[in-house]
Formats: sequence, C-alpha cells, structure tokens
Amino acid sequence: MSTKRDYYDILGVAKNSGADEIKKAYRKLAIKFHPDKNPGDKEAEDKFKEAAEAYEVLSNAEKRQRYDQFGHRAGANNGGGGFGGSNMNMEDIFSQFGDIFGGGSPFEGFFGGGQRAGGGRRVNRGTNLRIKVKLTLEEISNGVEKTIKVAKLVNCGTCQGSGAKGSSFKTCSTCGGAGSVRRVTNTILGQMQTTSTCPTCHGDGQIITDKCHSCQGEGVVRGEETIKINIPAGVSDGMQLSMAGKGNAATRGGVPGDLIILIEEIEHETLKRDGNNIVYDLYLSFIDATMGTSVEIPTIDGKARIKIDAGTQAGKILRLKGKGIKEVNSYHRGDQLIHVNIWTPKTLSNEERDILEKLKNSPNFKPNPGKNEKSFFEKMKEFFE
Ligand SMILES: [Zn+2]
Ligand SMILES: [Zn+2]
Repeated sequence: MSTKRDYYDILGVAKNSGADEIKKAYRKLAIKFHPDKNPGDKEAEDKFKEAAEAYEVLSNAEKRQRYDQFGHRAGANNGGGGFGGSNMNMEDIFSQFGDIFGGGSPFEGFFGGGQRAGGGRRVNRGTNLRIKVKLTLEEISNGVEKTIKVAKLVNCGTCQGSGAKGSSFKTCSTCGGAGSVRRVTNTILGQMQTTSTCPTCHGDGQIITDKCHSCQGEGVVRGEETIKINIPAGVSDGMQLSMAGKGNAATRGGVPGDLIILIEEIEHETLKRDGNNIVYDLYLSFIDATMGTSVEIPTIDGKARIKIDAGTQAGKILRLKGKGIKEVNSYHRGDQLIHVNIWTPKTLSNEERDILEKLKNSPNFKPNPGKNEKSFFEKMKEFFE
C-alpha cells in the first residue's frame, strides 16, 4: 500500500552512509527545493518536504535503525502516520535548519533572520551577481583563496535594511500583516477560496510611514563587499562557481541573491593545458639529442631536471607522472607530457658550415629508421591508453 520512496533514494545516499554524508546530501536538497528559491512551485515544495522527512528519520540513529529493519512499516506500527515525518509542517522543517545550516555555514545569510515567520508573507530576493576571476595555471593546479572587492547592493546602514526611518512602519491594514489576502467567491461548485499577494503592501505585511532618507525606502544602497572565494584545485576556463547569499542584497530585508563566479584561465608562458595534463614543448639541439644531456624544464610546481638519453628522436614524448592538474573533487592528478622537438639551425656561420659539411656523408648521420622506431601513430596510441 505504501507508495513512499526509499529515504536513502530521496537523499541520494548509500545505505551505509555516515551522518555527515546524510547531512550534506540533505543540505543540498534543502537549498535546491527551498520555498524561497521556488516560490509557488508545488513540486519543489513536495520534494522539500520529502527530503525533510527522509532526513528526520535518517539523522536519528534509533529511527534509522528501525527504518533499516522494517522500512516504512516501522513507523506505522508505532502509532500511525508513518514516521511522523509526513506530519511535519513547514515550521518543523525550518526549525531543523538550526543544526543543518548553523555555525558559520556559507548559507547563513540565505536562511538567516527568520523571514518566514509571517507565514504567507513574501520574501524579497536580491538579484544574482556575476564576476570573472582570472587564474594562473599554478593557482588552478593548487586551488587558491581569492579576496575580491565586489561592487554590489548592500543593506542600507542607516535603516539596517528595513527602508524605514527609525521604526516608522505600521502593520498593513488591508491584509493585517499577513502579506496576502484571501477572497471567497461563490461558484457553481461551491465556495472557492483564492489567495493573492496583498495589493497595498505588495506582500511585505507592513507599510513604511516615513522612508529612510539614505535609501529612499528601498533598504539597499550601492556599496561593496570584500569577499573571500575559495577556489578548489582543478577548475577550468568557463566553469562557474556560486556562493549562496553573496549576491545583491534584497530590498527591505529580504534574502540576498547569489554570487556567480566565472573562471577564466590566464595563458601560461610555456605550459599548455590539455584536460588535466600539462603539455610542454621541449627543443633540443640535434647535438644534445644525439649525445644525450640533462635539461631543466618548467613544471607547475617549479623547475624540474630531466635526463635526455643519447639518440633521442624528435617527436618522442616523455611523461612526468603526477605533474599535471589535480582533478576537481579528487586526489588524482594528471601528468606533464614533454614533447621533444629537435631544433634545426636557421642560419650557419662559415665555420659551422665547414664542420657540418665534413659530417654530411658520415654513415651515422644518414636517416635509418628500422623496425624498432615507433611510428607517430604508435606513439599517439601509447599515450591515450
Ligand atoms: Zn535606509
Ligand atoms: Zn498588506
């Protein structure tokens, strides 16, 4: 009879997940389906409630154990209505947030302030802000914390974002402070009740009687904020990161928008990026390639010295394992590939020309690729395996 979805499926976690993993998964869903982010979206609200119910059970060791053993029936046997989660109302759900989002979490600004206390009252939402952050290959490789001054709308300091001078506002008389009005109409199907945003206060529930002069009653002014942005290692050009609540402040004490960070890669002087690998073009004189040598090359971790075997052919690819870029959210690092080029002199002095003339017909200088010489195709294959 139960058509309820599995609680682990709802949160998208494995049966053996730890408490932290469950908390993290729930936090993600709570943000995604939060009513403030999805106003009027019934499906989002259902998902929001569903996730809250799943979390309510899985975050409690005793309830979780019973659920693991008996499934959804466990709650029913214990006094009706499933695990009690289905009886959770929005207030219960928001009261859970204390421990989910509390304590210096980046979402504090997003959910803070108890703006929903008024029930149907609309919450203003600030707009999202987009900024570009340029990163060097080294910064991308290691991850970096950037401190950036962002010009944006901030809460007005004079009125603390309320928009009112002093505490000069009164409860809206049209809606009695609810922010919405109900209308009952008689139809052939009986009485119908509709709810709409209050036309007098536009959903605020309050009316400002004397506007703040600094912000003309908006509650926000142009300003700037210095924001620390933690950029994880391995990001790439065009990628977007977002910080909840770091966008523009909302009018009259609403929820701020998000800060969207667009990653831009600054081209490196000598190293090229290919996915998580770093590619470097090495040029050797044919003398060094013939006799062997050791050369210093740049890597994203600084200089490295590599050995060149005598008789190295042009086109050879050397690999420095783990000297590439770290993958996002992983410990794996790409490699640095060194592509060997032989530098052919473009001009010669008379003396140089004389020496080369003498070597010209020497048997060892005649190209003689045998079966042991790998073709370009084989070399390519080797590196993509
Ligand atoms: Zn103001
Ligand atoms: Zn009103």
